[in-house]
Amino acid sequence: MRYINLSLRIPTTRLYTYSVPQHIKENLVGKRVLILIKQKRSVGWVIEEVEKPDIAEIKEIITVLDDEPIISPELIDLAKWMAEYYLSGLSEALNLFIPPSLSQRVITYVEKGNLEITKASPSQKLILELIKEKGRVSLSMLKSRVSSPYSALKVLEAKEAIKVINQIKPLPGISKTLEVKETIKDIPPVLSPDQKDAVDRIQVFIEKEGFSTFLLYGVTGSGKTEVYLRAIEDVMKRGKSAIVLLPEISLTTQLIERFRMRFGAECAIIHSRLTAKERLSEWQRIRQGTRVVVGARSALFSPVKNLGLIVVDEEQSSSYKQENDPRYNARDTAVMRAKMEKAVVILGSATPSLESFYNSQIKKYERLELPDRVQKSRLPNVEIVDMRSEKEPGIFSQKLIKTIEETVDSGHQVILLMNRRGFSNYIQCYDCGSIPGCPNCDITLTFHSSDKRLRCHYCGFSLPAPSVCPKCKGERIKFSGFGTQQVEKEVLRIFPEMRVLRMDTDTTKKRLSHQEMLSSFAEKKVDCLVGTQMISKGLHFPNVTLVGVISADIFLSLPDFRAAEKTFSLLTQVAGRSGRGDAPGRVVIQTYNPGHYAIQTAIHQNYSLFFQKEMEYRRELLYPPFSRLLSLILRGEDEERVGKEAERLSEVLIDSNKEGIHILGPAPYYISKIKRNYLYQVILKDPDYKKLHRLLSACDFKPTGGVELIRDIDPVGVV
Ligand code: ADP
Ligand code: ZN
Repeated sequence: MRYINLSLRIPTTRLYTYSVPQHIKENLVGKRVLILIKQKRSVGWVIEEVEKPDIAEIKEIITVLDDEPIISPELIDLAKWMAEYYLSGLSEALNLFIPPSLSQRVITYVEKGNLEITKASPSQKLILELIKEKGRVSLSMLKSRVSSPYSALKVLEAKEAIKVINQIKPLPGISKTLEVKETIKDIPPVLSPDQKDAVDRIQVFIEKEGFSTFLLYGVTGSGKTEVYLRAIEDVMKRGKSAIVLLPEISLTTQLIERFRMRFGAECAIIHSRLTAKERLSEWQRIRQGTRVVVGARSALFSPVKNLGLIVVDEEQSSSYKQENDPRYNARDTAVMRAKMEKAVVILGSATPSLESFYNSQIKKYERLELPDRVQKSRLPNVEIVDMRSEKEPGIFSQKLIKTIEETVDSGHQVILLMNRRGFSNYIQCYDCGSIPGCPNCDITLTFHSSDKRLRCHYCGFSLPAPSVCPKCKGERIKFSGFGTQQVEKEVLRIFPEMRVLRMDTDTTKKRLSHQEMLSSFAEKKVDCLVGTQMISKGLHFPNVTLVGVISADIFLSLPDFRAAEKTFSLLTQVAGRSGRGDAPGRVVIQTYNPGHYAIQTAIHQNYSLFFQKEMEYRRELLYPPFSRLLSLILRGEDEERVGKEAERLSEVLIDSNKEGIHILGPAPYYISKIKRNYLYQVILKDPDYKKLHRLLSACDFKPTGGVELIRDIDPVGVV
């Protein structure tokens, strides 16, 4: 008898042992099997074969669902690590490794068996009659006619009066629409000396075929992508494959084309605009040997064979963190996958996260630098406008208006960044001062002028903008703050002739419009592009010579210990969009905090000074990279209960805290109500994450009364 350990759809990393019927001879590791738990059919993942365990009763599996393993032993190990480290269930982690549409249903039929029986219970009789009438009956049909048919079916099957057939939907073929045409290959440029040094250094490790991590720190436009392309070529020459991770918003045709032009049909692309069918098709192509996979964070779980390299571009991006279980960070998980499969990792950025730069200082990562832009295009000239000294407060300073005019007059293009979508940030009653908020979330509603509605940016709730105050019936409504829509309108008011295009999640909802908008900008059909941070990364438009930042203060004002880091990164990235061609670039940043070090250092693109200042602050308050954080959030509809459970959690933690871990809170989360749920947070802080794990498992806390506990290690959102 053979025994296997299964992972079941239960939020635990524990494994369950089942036996394998004699007639199943194949290797089962990495396949899914069907089992019965409490009379319900359930899918289990086979993790390993084991010796006969010391358990009295071991059940048999019903059937095997996959012809071929759908996950390799290496990836099973990675899923195990993720489940443990990110505190999730193992099957949730395993599910990341297959396309969602592959978790298909199994269809079970019942047919006439070999033998007739004379004695049968009422429900057995009913089943037999149905089969006689219809020939073949599906299990779901039986369930609707016979109450709990399982035991009757079991008896009938044992007596060979019926046959139970489990049919699995076969894998579909590779979608024709995605078949890659061979493109004309580009001619790789001659590398700059810095690029060459980086490529050579990486090559040494690719040839050693061992694990190592590089931090490729290069200013915007320094040619990091070319370094990735060369490293991928080196890996492919050795018969190995590569995965390239990009933040979703940089997955533009522009960048994808660069990979396609270099690697042609060898390249699979995975992004969120693929349909489920296309995604499955790409997954199959990768299993059949595609050697370069480019995609957003989930591409990390691609079943590439012979992994040699993982590239994580814009490694500081918070889009690498998944905000539901398992709450993994694809950058850190990439390093772990590479370690397990002896591959090389390149983390690239113009503004590395403090964690990664620190790791390069303590030599955990090897740092490679590209300090200059290629093709001698110089970094843009950055100017700050102190909005406090503007004569008339408005969206645009006199300086910015003048610079826009000069830029467009000289035949160049402008990008204006406004990190908030919508028209007016909120509306307020002049008389009573009240501001309409979302009934489900503790957040102000945003006014959208296109349809004159107030919308919640968290839950999507919306209502028509009122013309009288809902509270005091006052008729004087004030529009305060502003977003992309108002910036667009203001540009058109000042420059009625200007061709303006707005890009934010409201205007790019359609599957293709994102791409279409960028093309019309590239073709110079537009003078001025107004957008959210969606436009700040990865784009390359040589004709853009002015980038205006309407308000540098939005990120700074977030209650987040990374507020300065995010501001610095955003300003540096967006400044990098200017002057990528022959003409020198200009950047104008409007702010009410001109003296802030994140803004001052961003003007000079001085990362090392920013790093030094930011590290002082992190050290003082024991924030990462000087510590690890575990954020515990309690969520529920009853505010009082949530608060009480948060109190109880923190008491239990304090009682079990034997290793001197910092316990902060409980306190209401910074948005204390989201989608009708109240949120409270407790934060654990210690330089050693293992201690955080230990404390959490020692305290054995289970929330009650409809309250849910979310556990998030290395959180990146607002903490
Ligand atoms: P980064 O990713 O660092 O922002 P890119 O890789 O996008 O920079 O490079 C910016 C531009 O310079 C691209 O158009 C790229 O094709 C070009 N480029 C990169 N390396 C070279 C090189 N060695 N010689 C000429 N052009 C290059
Ligand atoms: Zn809401």
